[in-house]
Amino acid sequence: MNASTSRTAGALSVALATLLFVTPAEAISRRVYDFSLGNVARLNFNYFGYYLGRGGSQPPRGPSPPGMILPGSTDVDDLFDYFGSAEQYYMEKFGRNGPNGRGGLSTGVLTPFEYWDGWVNGFNPQDGYAAAAFTRWPHNNAESQVTGYQGLVGFTAGWVAPDVVGHELAHILIHSSWLNPDGSSRVNPDGTWVTLTYQGESGALHEGLADFFGEAFEVWVTGSTDWETATGVDGTLLPRRFRNLSNPPSVMHTTGGGRATIS
Ligand SMILES: [Zn+2]
Repeated sequence: MNASTSRTAGALSVALATLLFVTPAEAISRRVYDFSLGNVARLNFNYFGYYLGRGGSQPPRGPSPPGMILPGSTDVDDLFDYFGSAEQYYMEKFGRNGPNGRGGLSTGVLTPFEYWDGWVNGFNPQDGYAAAAFTRWPHNNAESQVTGYQGLVGFTAGWVAPDVVGHELAHILIHSSWLNPDGSSRVNPDGTWVTLTYQGESGALHEGLADFFGEAFEVWVTGSTDWETATGVDGTLLPRRFRNLSNPPSVMHTTGGGRATIS
């Protein structure tokens, strides 16, 4: 190999390396809204020099300062990063472009498909502290145009943890089973969307699958799983509640009062 060829090969290596390091995570559109000042979603909002929320190509926010709902919280940056990790996870493991298969979380009715929207550091605007983490998803196009919800995940302050994030994103994945990549719908003979209805036994499957995907995402992020949900949650504002997937009856059920069983 002469010097000229070597230089060409070197340039090609650099070009390939650049290509390889342009990951989907850098390309996706992330919006993490911050409720630290109350029930108003803030995005890239300057509050005496500290920026609440993070979207687009904005830099990391760092720990939230005194006066915020959970001082020292890194929920905003954590969720921003987990969104990027999740895009890579879905693409590498399943060849799927995000939980909705179209590059993000939304239905695409009101917003583009590619948005990854999250709410952090607040009370659940509708349920107070009843939900530590939740998914908002319209059940049909008409509802989405009334509520404006296009597919988003929300977390009470301190509850942005890998398995909790993976759990909520899996709800979006399951909801999205009615949505074809080309935008058409999978519809049952009775006109309903092909998905798991969130009630009764299909609702239990919804939760069980989400718990499993939560632990799988925990492995993707941390390299291992303890098979317990809500690992690493900061219980300062809302005490950690969890389910034990390897021994369900060992933990009192978090919502119903009985012991969790799988049937
Ligand atoms: Zn759930």
